Amino acid sequence: GKHRHKGTVEDCCCDYETVDHLNGEVLHPILQELVKTPFFRYYKVKLWCDCPFWPEDHMCRLRDCSVCECPESEFPDSFKPFQRTLSSGDLKCREGKPQAAVDRTLDSIAFRGWTETDNPWTYDDETDNSEMTYVNLQLNPERYTGYNGTSARRIWDAVYSGNCPKYPAEELCQEEKILYKLISGLHSSISVHIASDYLIDEATNLWGHNLEIMYYRVLQYPNRVENLYFTFLFVLRAVTKAAEFLEQAEYDTGNPTEDLKTQSLMKQLLYDPKLQAACPLPFDEAKLWKGRRGPELKQKIQAQFKNISAVMDCVGCEKCRLWGKLQVSGLGTALKILFSVNDEENLIQILQLQRNEVIALMNLLNRLSESVKFVHEMGAAAEMGRMHY
Ligand code: FAD
Repeated sequence: GKHRHKGTVEDCCCDYETVDHLNGEVLHPILQELVKTPFFRYYKVKLWCDCPFWPEDHMCRLRDCSVCECPESEFPDSFKPFQRTLSSGDLKCREGKPQAAVDRTLDSIAFRGWTETDNPWTYDDETDNSEMTYVNLQLNPERYTGYNGTSARRIWDAVYSGNCPKYPAEELCQEEKILYKLISGLHSSISVHIASDYLIDEATNLWGHNLEIMYYRVLQYPNRVENLYFTFLFVLRAVTKAAEFLEQAEYDTGNPTEDLKTQSLMKQLLYDPKLQAACPLPFDEAKLWKGRRGPELKQKIQAQFKNISAVMDCVGCEKCRLWGKLQVSGLGTALKILFSVNDEENLIQILQLQRNEVIALMNLLNRLSESVKFVHEMGAAAEMGRMHY
């Protein structure tokens, strides 16, 4: 069957069967638990649509797929600033739930135990806490929202064009190809989530799988599936490379039982013996940025990625913007880990990750893991002739 990929994932170090097996047995179950913990389920984000492009377009007024922001009583004490001023009461939870007030004045004290440094790979100023709000990711799953048309198309066009217009032309160097593959892999993953959680029938509010979307947007293009696996392995490599940092990080949310669980799940994931035996190096970043043009190329790719990150502020649907920003920030964090330092021994001394970056990174890995699992299951179903398009 054409959906079944065999052999090694291009530019990676593990084959499809191994990835599917490790994901099903180890990664997916651990990640699913991890993202539910209080540390990982609250994401700090500036949801205001602050688009530096296309000002004439009133896309930010779309409210049909809005995000439910956290009431301040909900997020963990240790995430809160000591001094708080409440913002105006007009910030209603837009999904119609009663919890209303939102604190947009979180200051740096909220990030005790974590550094505040800007990520050179992303556009957002991570140290700027004004207009920030907390979102409970568990209450706002990435799924079908109905966002499409020119606004959505323009974002994807901008993301790809600013990037590598000539792909798959051969002159494209390996580094640029990798940026393209990361974006395409993320795009596949978003499409898979739309397909796996789709509004089938509006009248009865019935949600379920939409296999046609799954096929026509992702499965029928071997490259899109391949790029999804590539992106998954790339982010996995970043996580395991930063294992020492992530193991020692501060997961305190004021709930000792939950926080111990978070720590233990992290350890399980980072040092899983099956993962280390079957896929010890999911991606080999040491091969990149070599040669004379290395440093210049890195800056160029960094600038391109920053642009992609800026474009996320133009996504005209709040929930799509939330997940777009989170996942691009997760990719930026992976890039920062993989390309900040070449030698692994010194990584722990040099690497500085913010709490929010770690939350984005692990939630991104979980999303990719879900997509890989769904693609694998649907591919298997198609091969057995159980699926018709
Ligand atoms: P699109 O997915 O818009 O694709 C546009 C074009 O890009 C395609 O025609 C194709 O040429 C190319 N392309 C598509 N997939 C790939 C790939 N994997 N690799 C390379 N090229 C590709 N909608 C929701 O319902 N829920 C969401 O959570 C959501 N989040 C979004 C987040 C972002 C950042 C953006 C930009 C959009 C989001 N959308 C979301 C909208 C959704 O991604 C689609 O744009 C929309 O459903 C329309 O789909 P489409 O079939 O026109 O193709």
